[in-house]
Amino acid sequence: MDRSLLALNSGSSSLKFTLFTIGNGIDDVLNSEQEAKPEVIARGQIDGIYTKPHFRIEFAFSARIAKTYSKFLGNKTAESKIDRELASSVVNDHDSAMTFLLEELFEQFITAESMLAIGHRVVHGGEQFTAATLINQEVLDDLEPLVPLAPLHQPHHLAAMRAISKRLPLLPQVACFDTAFHRTLPWRARIYALPKELSQHGVRRFGFHGLSFESIAGRLSVLDPEAYSGRTVVAHLGNGSSVCGMFGGQSQVTSMGMTPLDGLPMGTRCGSLDPGLLLYLQETTGITPLELRNLLYNRSGLLGLSGISSDMRELLESQAPSARTAVDFLVYRASCEIASSATALRGMDALVFTGGIGENSHFVRKSICEQLEWLGVRLGNVPEIASDQCISDPESRCRVWVIATDEESIIARQTLQVLQKVQAGSIRPKSI
Ligand code: ADP
Repeated sequence: MDRSLLALNSGSSSLKFTLFTIGNGIDDVLNSEQEAKPEVIARGQIDGIYTKPHFRIEFAFSARIAKTYSKFLGNKTAESKIDRELASSVVNDHDSAMTFLLEELFEQFITAESMLAIGHRVVHGGEQFTAATLINQEVLDDLEPLVPLAPLHQPHHLAAMRAISKRLPLLPQVACFDTAFHRTLPWRARIYALPKELSQHGVRRFGFHGLSFESIAGRLSVLDPEAYSGRTVVAHLGNGSSVCGMFGGQSQVTSMGMTPLDGLPMGTRCGSLDPGLLLYLQETTGITPLELRNLLYNRSGLLGLSGISSDMRELLESQAPSARTAVDFLVYRASCEIASSATALRGMDALVFTGGIGENSHFVRKSICEQLEWLGVRLGNVPEIASDQCISDPESRCRVWVIATDEESIIARQTLQVLQKVQAGSIRPKSI
């Protein structure tokens, strides 16, 4: 029987998913250390969960999958799409969104029995979780205190895990952490200049977007092995944005800190601020912690600066001066963070753009590269590009790449690695 694996990424108002098949011979994979090559069947998302729920799914499958799943796929082709509004009586929170998704998948593609596992992107793993982990009640209890450190994401990851365990209590679920990639950060890139005892309470930089950075490191090792083994700065620019400096594919420095608020301005998040500003606001306006959280996470960044939108496409299309200010500020701050990472690495052999903005906006990439010209960065004369392409001039001191991130494949791979360990007996499963 073909076995499938679901990779989930639950955000504040959306649930993104990718369904993979592992193919036959799963026992061979689980009983060995060989790397499985999961193949995508479909990708999609439910967004607007608390407002106007909307379900999208795009099928992407090979002739082999079409044959295996012919009973479920019916007349769908590899290019078929589903795109429809959902009634808010059906989906109105993460729990109901998860239930809807499982029912839909079981109706469209797979039997519950053929589902091998579900892997979750989890933004914060704290000090404790430095590798993908099989989820059980203890793990859920340990993840709960991290909710205040990633309030846009962490509660929704936990809600999805609980919803699945209610429906499919025996199905293995694996947490794949964004923070885990940064376990190699050297002490300088980890600490804050605060009294030492605070670090004993877990006050430190963690860094995020680790699944994306791992995906980029893997692609770069194939596309540009020389740069991969040297000093690479990756700019993940999307709704959330951060920069990571790597040496030999390992994280050495990153722009996000203890929480995913630090560093670059993002869609609605503020990025780096003077901490004195927060004291000032508290002392002079009496702003409550909840209001402050809402201000910093939901009302700042590109949205706050432009007063128009958090979405880069809308800002680039707008004629309003405030939209231009927001775009220019992101370009300025991204350039500064890239140069700062290059300083930490003492050089930069490659610069990689990824994420929704990094992969798609020639204007943003070009503007950042112009600001970095003094570092020897020179863009080539490359027209509209396909992803996974080198876009620098042959004379450039540093190669510039655009690489599509694929966090879901990393989730699938890490999930399978955990299942291999369970099979080998080095992890003992406990139910949720
Ligand atoms: P997330 O961090 O939620 O995964 P994405 O990586 O998908 O988000 O990035 C979303 C951002 O990418 C949005 O600001 C969106 O406007 C921007 N984006 C997507 N396509 C383009 C494009 N063609 N040009 C400019 N910006 C784009």
